[in-house]
Amino acid sequence: MLDSDRILMVARWVWQSKSVVAFTGAGISTASGIPDFRSPESGLWGSVDPMKVASIFGFRHNPEAFYKWVEPLARKTLLAQPNAAHLALARLEQTGKLQAVITQNIDILHTRAGNSTVFELHGHMREATCIHCFTVYDGQSVIEKFLEDRVVPRCTTCGSVLKPNVILFGEQLPIQEFNGAKKALRHSDMMIVVGSSLEVAPASDLPMLARRNGAKLVIINLEPTALDEFADTVIRGNAAEILPSIVQSLEEMM
Ligand code: NAD
Ligand code: ZN
Repeated sequence: MLDSDRILMVARWVWQSKSVVAFTGAGISTASGIPDFRSPESGLWGSVDPMKVASIFGFRHNPEAFYKWVEPLARKTLLAQPNAAHLALARLEQTGKLQAVITQNIDILHTRAGNSTVFELHGHMREATCIHCFTVYDGQSVIEKFLEDRVVPRCTTCGSVLKPNVILFGEQLPIQEFNGAKKALRHSDMMIVVGSSLEVAPASDLPMLARRNGAKLVIINLEPTALDEFADTVIRGNAAEILPSIVQSLEEMM
């Protein structure tokens, strides 16, 4: 089957469905200039092991190493703008078909694109919190200052290190976000996965949960994913081209 036929087929499924949920990973934001972790050329998985440096244990043990590793990613994320894939999901919400975006991303680009119901399973960059006294700071100002002076950000109240409100390896997911996502799935009859290798649990369990609930499962990803064999269809390609085509085809049907 040609990709153009698959795009049309998915648009028709969306048109027939009552409630669509999108599930996104780092791959939806690569066209905004933010590298993912697992694509071979991204470099983020290269010289250091993120499982160590980006774990809560690594952070507490050596916050300098974490901030050094995260610096290029933070710089790109701060500059990034929503791309055509994010904007297509915002348009899909406007059609009344998309009920929620469940994302593993911390870059806030879905909200900035205009989606109103976004479950951020791995946290976000809006805030940073003191790991000792839990004072909460504006994330953007903390990161901007760090990118300027390259000094590990510290709490002005107690002097301890500030951690961006992103979920590191070894940390529990924000339970309210996870429950909100699961609730959205219970009412959904279709899930579109975009730009995720589906290798990081428990987030990657959600597409299987949707499947067990009887929802159609569509996967749009550059490379094969761990759940391709369970999908109703897989479109292998650039989300920033495929998603806008699906939404355009849908708008022509409506
Ligand atoms: P992931 O597991 O979601 O994998 C990314 C997948 O996207 C890869 O399989 C790749 O083939 C695919 N991809 C890349 N560009 C694409 C494109 N233009 N169109 C379609 N598919 C594309 O993500 P990861 O990189 O393994 O990261 C794991 C976790 O790290 C995330 O869940 C997130 O918490 C964090 N992270 C977040 C960001 C962000 O917020 N933008 C960036 C990097 C990592
Ligand atoms: Zn403090």
